[in-house]
Amino acid sequence: MFDNLSDRLGGVFDRLRGRGALSEQDVRDAMREVRVALLEADVALPVARRFIDAVTERAIGQDVLRSVTPGQQVVKIVNDELVDMLGGTEVEGLKLDARPPVVIMMVGLQGSGKTTTTAKLAKLIREKHGKKAMMASLDVNRPAAQEQLKVLGEQVDVATLPIVAGQQPVDIARRAMESARLQAFDVLLLDTAGRLHVDEALMAEMKAVAGVSAPTEVLLVVDSLTGQDAVNVAQSFSGEVPLTGVVLTRMDGDARGGAALSMRHVTGKPIKFAGTGEKLDAIEAFDPKRVAGRILG
Ligand code: GDP
Repeated sequence: MFDNLSDRLGGVFDRLRGRGALSEQDVRDAMREVRVALLEADVALPVARRFIDAVTERAIGQDVLRSVTPGQQVVKIVNDELVDMLGGTEVEGLKLDARPPVVIMMVGLQGSGKTTTTAKLAKLIREKHGKKAMMASLDVNRPAAQEQLKVLGEQVDVATLPIVAGQQPVDIARRAMESARLQAFDVLLLDTAGRLHVDEALMAEMKAVAGVSAPTEVLLVVDSLTGQDAVNVAQSFSGEVPLTGVVLTRMDGDARGGAALSMRHVTGKPIKFAGTGEKLDAIEAFDPKRVAGRILG
């Protein structure tokens, strides 16, 4: 994760730290290198620009350059701004305190890892939060999607709504709500249908499902490997459905990290979780401080 960026920044900061005194020009030169490293990591241009401006202003505007350890101070400023870029110091967890059944609606494009993530979250909710969860697949487009969720449910020991052939997504959502109420489930996870691209039919379906299920959380699942595309997808969705957060999948294979670094500032939505593998416990709460720590080594 973030391997290339981490290596590049490590080099720049070792050089900064190695010097006793720093001039304004040294800071500007270092920031130019950081900017290139961010862009190579596929960070959105406005985000990279804003980051560099913020660091530069703080580094040359205060007493940093005259301090005993200017290099270290600059690195600390970079760390702070990186945490901010990743979403701030809060770890944004799930809101599960609303009146049950609390509905978590999962949205995203096909192949993003939505169904797997639904099962991962259900497992987490059962094991870590001690809540009784049920999952329902509203994906009537992809053959066997509903069966896939059922199999995953058996693996994570979480109930799934019985499949009724031919039923349409909004009706499945209604039936899931009713069933969750009757059986006193605390949490209902709705795995909605994906599409290959964001289109009107998909958005209309998402709105209709949200309309009948009044979700507390609407989580967009995006593949971090798609970089800036992931951010564009998030922007398209957030214009249409009220997203409460993003789950970035395949972070385990993401050597660049551009989606993680740009997501918050471009979309205004917090990254709540990171998918870190195919196994059903390979999911982590997204902690900006820890991620920044990983990047800076
Ligand atoms: P959906 O079409 O969005 O529902 O996608 P699926 O949940 O079926 O996932 C597609 C593939 O991605 C599956 O093979 C998953 O095991 C895999 N996958 C999902 N999340 C992750 C992740 O965080 N890391 C890795 N390495 N693979 C993942």
